Amino acid sequence: MSVVVVPAALSRCTGGASVLPVTCATVGEAIEKISARFPGLNALIRNSNGLMRGDFRFFVGNTDVAMLDGLATKLSANDEISLVPCVAGAAGPPLSGPECVISPERGEAAVLSNDEILRYSRHLILPEVNLEGQKKLKAAKVLCIGAGGLGSPLAMYLAAAGIGTIGIVDFDVVDYTNLQRQIIHGTKDVGRTKMQSAKETIADINPNVEVIGYEEQFTSENAVRIVQDYDIVIDGTDNFPTRYLTNDVCVLLGKPNVYGSIFRFEGQATVFWADKGPCYRCLYPEPPPPGLVPSCAEGGVIGVLPGIIGCIQANEAIKLILGVGSPLIGRLMLFNALKMQFRELRLMKDPSCPICGENPTITELIDYEQFCGIRGEESAPQAVADSDEITVVELKARIDSGEKLTIIDVREPYEYAIAKMPGTKLIPLGQIIERSGELDPNSEIILHCRSGKRSADALNQLKAKGFKHLKNVVGGITAWSEQIDSDVPKY
Ligand SMILES: [Zn+2]
Repeated sequence: MSVVVVPAALSRCTGGASVLPVTCATVGEAIEKISARFPGLNALIRNSNGLMRGDFRFFVGNTDVAMLDGLATKLSANDEISLVPCVAGAAGPPLSGPECVISPERGEAAVLSNDEILRYSRHLILPEVNLEGQKKLKAAKVLCIGAGGLGSPLAMYLAAAGIGTIGIVDFDVVDYTNLQRQIIHGTKDVGRTKMQSAKETIADINPNVEVIGYEEQFTSENAVRIVQDYDIVIDGTDNFPTRYLTNDVCVLLGKPNVYGSIFRFEGQATVFWADKGPCYRCLYPEPPPPGLVPSCAEGGVIGVLPGIIGCIQANEAIKLILGVGSPLIGRLMLFNALKMQFRELRLMKDPSCPICGENPTITELIDYEQFCGIRGEESAPQAVADSDEITVVELKARIDSGEKLTIIDVREPYEYAIAKMPGTKLIPLGQIIERSGELDPNSEIILHCRSGKRSADALNQLKAKGFKHLKNVVGGITAWSEQIDSDVPKY
């Protein structure tokens, strides 16, 4: 018996399972069996012609099957097949030499006060840093895209390390649900802008740091203006349009892009720098199909994880400023917090990359929302006709009048355990078609989820199956909690 390991971000397609046992002789057979069992996964790993998509690779143990016999690679008992969404090679890639973004002249021109010399004394006695390196840190300008989960630890460590100028792009407000991981913000900051809160925390950690805030959405219109003055960009974003925008502006301006991403218990980090190695588009030429990869808001994330990945990003940025060590250029670090395992995959520059390849087709910034499709928690809710909607007030009135209603909750069981509305039946979105036989297509069915987005999706799926009398609860159980019954907790 072998197992196929699916990254957590895609486990929605496999009913939540990330380790799938399978009995078969070759990697190809294993993939066939798994994709036949999970049509959602099949849709993800194949293009419309039924061929494997180029942005997925299969590993047996630590070895890319491309280096073995491809999909014909024979399996032994207990082999672990990993489905890795990237262009990768075997573990143990060669380490690249140091790279430095600060010229000796810029470093020499920086001045440290006696207070600063005392503050940084544990750096100054490190041969890899010393006075010369500390002055480079002071001369450096680092831009953090986002002051959230990844942005919090990395901005705090960069400030503590004495980076002279830290730019932060974020226009969001601190929310209660941020506090579990966004440690730059405190309970007193809830409702304030993340920028105010981040600036105060950094000023407290190290008043010698100049913080430049950009309280605006990072867009194709402002990206060049914001990024051009910085030495390094750190990607701490949580959505695909901003990731592609960050990559593209860095490639076009020749800046290193220190990348990190997190989901549940799994994280990734690398340094994309098109002048020296691959870029994000070499790794992921195209975004996943809309709605397939859930965001952290939908899928959850363990609070420590952005701390670990954000610190790796801060460390890589500091190495690039000091010009020491082996940067993560061309190496993708995969971290699994549950197993406490780091894996390292070799990333190749793709000669046909649309932006950093030999014949680039992208020569200026594009419309990234359109490129990625409308998707995720941050996107607009799925369209449902007004006549298919019901408000929580109308729903409550109908329940109170004694009507017998069929109300289907399309959330996950762990969400149902946190909060539920009275008289509902749970059928998670992923099972709604499979279990539609449990529903009467001729009677009215009321659908709800947390915010109204997934239930709109369920409504459209059932409608396509011929169900006619469907209603979507506007605002979901969150609206129920806010307007009808505050004893139902919000989450
Ligand atoms: Zn590229």
